[in-house]
Amino acid sequence: MRLLFLGPPGAGKGTQAERVAQRLGIPHISTGEMFRRHVSSGTDLGRRVKALMEAGEYVPDEITGQMLAGRLTDSDCAGGFILDGFPRTLPQAELLDRLLAEDPLDRVVSLEVDSQVLLERMLARGRADDTPDTIRRRLEVYETQTAPLLEFYGRRGIVSTVEGSGSIPEICERIIAALR
Ligand code: AMP
Repeated sequence: MRLLFLGPPGAGKGTQAERVAQRLGIPHISTGEMFRRHVSSGTDLGRRVKALMEAGEYVPDEITGQMLAGRLTDSDCAGGFILDGFPRTLPQAELLDRLLAEDPLDRVVSLEVDSQVLLERMLARGRADDTPDTIRRRLEVYETQTAPLLEFYGRRGIVSTVEGSGSIPEICERIIAALR
């Protein structure tokens, strides 16, 4: 299965994508994690994206798209995957359509969470880009750049909306049920 998890920052996409990927035996592909690994190992790419990430801004589509396109050609992706954090803009979604031309996304899981819960979760996880100013900016960027993707995929009738509050196992079961 080729899946995409969508939702605002703090919705629990990463946590749930990881769990569901394990259950389904497919890789979990997080562009945010890939960027964080580049930053912590100090690669050229890491140096280019560090300040943007810390400011809560998106990395340019070209850089992100190239990194993702390379990952999708890895042999472990042949049997399906869960995308988490890509695409985040319409041009990225259009690129993904071209990359997956023969075998498109099967399902988009949209995790919906109350905005107060989002803030609490982000403040609790304490990542480098989880300061109050950055969180505010990331929510804003999500609304303008990424939320429109719900309509983009909604028109194809492949979006399943899942309530993202509750315990981690509970939400995971809800997602698995929505995929059946
Ligand atoms: P995440 O772990 O998905 O919340 O991503 C953390 C940060 O990495 C984001 O706030 C962006 O700065 C950057 N990033 C991750 N994925 C993308 C993407 N698809 N497009 C642009 N920037 C991204």
